[in-house]
Amino acid sequence: MIAAGRAAECGAPVILLEKNEQPGRKLLITGAGRCNVTTQDDVDDTIARFFGQGRFLYPALSHFYRPELLDLLSHYGTPCVVDHQGKYFPVSNQANDVLQALLRYVHQQGVQIRLNHRVHAIKTIQSYPDSPTQFVVSTSQGDLSAQAVILATGGMTYQSTGSTGDGYLLAESLMHPINRVRPALVPFLIRESYVHELSGLSLQDVQVTLHQIEQKSISQRGDLLLTHKGVSGPVILRLSRELHREGTLEINLLPSYTHEALITELLRLFAQNPRQQLKNALDSLVPHRLVVPLLKSTGFETDMQTAQAGRELAGRLATALQRWTLTVTGQAGQHLAMVTAGGVSLKSIQPSTLASKRVPGLFIAGEVLDLDGDTGGYNLQAAFSTGWLAGESAATYWQAHH
Ligand SMILES: Cc1cc2nc3c(=O)[nH]c(=O)nc-3n(C[C@H](O)[C@H](O)[C@H](O)COP(=O)(O)OP(=O)(O)OC[C@H]3O[C@@H](n4cnc5c(N)ncnc54)[C@H](O)[C@@H]3O)c2cc1C
Repeated sequence: MIAAGRAAECGAPVILLEKNEQPGRKLLITGAGRCNVTTQDDVDDTIARFFGQGRFLYPALSHFYRPELLDLLSHYGTPCVVDHQGKYFPVSNQANDVLQALLRYVHQQGVQIRLNHRVHAIKTIQSYPDSPTQFVVSTSQGDLSAQAVILATGGMTYQSTGSTGDGYLLAESLMHPINRVRPALVPFLIRESYVHELSGLSLQDVQVTLHQIEQKSISQRGDLLLTHKGVSGPVILRLSRELHREGTLEINLLPSYTHEALITELLRLFAQNPRQQLKNALDSLVPHRLVVPLLKSTGFETDMQTAQAGRELAGRLATALQRWTLTVTGQAGQHLAMVTAGGVSLKSIQPSTLASKRVPGLFIAGEVLDLDGDTGGYNLQAAFSTGWLAGESAATYWQAHH
């Protein structure tokens, strides 16, 4: 919608093809229905949230970033505010208000919206050498011709919203390499059933390392949430783009302690309360609900008195707390992934215009690109910024060639 609106604002006649009976269905479920439109972070910090791929976004973010987005939304009736975590939401807390603002923008610029038009092929025709490319866009309701095309079909998760991955096939048919597409920002399923009984428990500031066969181990630090089927929370969502099939999680529940410092702290706690049972001695270090299942799973006698616990036991306990190991059997499902990692190779796209390097007149924006960011408004900001730049570039291209 942003791409279409901006292209029309820059003077091009624009048709927006949408396969659903309404545009922006995914937008309605973002931010749990509140739509976290953007972030308080500056451009460089936002780039850092794209797992090594963010530099590509620099021209788009420099051109149209948070201030421009917030102005546009406010101008079309949806002012936004920032919360204590630096996330921006509409004042009304209604994602639908963001959608309505975008629809007003698109309508006011004169974009024709054609709903229930699923694009299934895009072909190029060149009448004679050096003539501008003409596109034939085949939809479920017939063919259209165009002098420029913007592909912004999104990823392939939450397919009920319309993002079914069609864009990858369309881009591939136009000679664009597609990098391994997989769900990201998605919880993990865990084999150990005692974890499922801890559903709802939140662990703050833990260090999680994902080990997989024949893959480099990767660590992230942050908050973790136990669910009825496995684990979630920011630290897991961030790691999820790296999971191939299955693996092992090694969780350091107390990353701010060195192993030795933790042994010393445990011995201090034991000495302080020698008559306490082991299961009650760790409350200052980890949530009480976790202690018994964790100790049992690692073979400790939970009822023993701390007076009996010596340095050897403190060492084993420190290892259990800093190397808690869980088996990952997979991701919680494509339908639960917030974004798609992988997609149209950034090498085939010009970052300064979002023009395809393979097909003149084709522009590609949004999640269909091989870009995925962290939670916190980064993915929508990237979609808006690339959409804006692609719209402007497509209009410039059209003006030069029509
Ligand atoms: C549950 C959930 C919560 C999220 N919350 C946030 C959040 O709060 N903040 C944030 O920054 N990000 C969030 N995201 C991610 C964000 O929604 C996406 O990154 C963003 O919507 C991508 O925008 P897009 O325009 O590229 O693709 P989409 O929003 O997926 O839009 C693509 C559009 O193209 C249409 N389309 C697809 N194929 C065809 C075709 N062949 N023909 C015609 N039309 C087609 C689709 O129907 C769809 O309307 C969330 C995602 C999910 C799933």
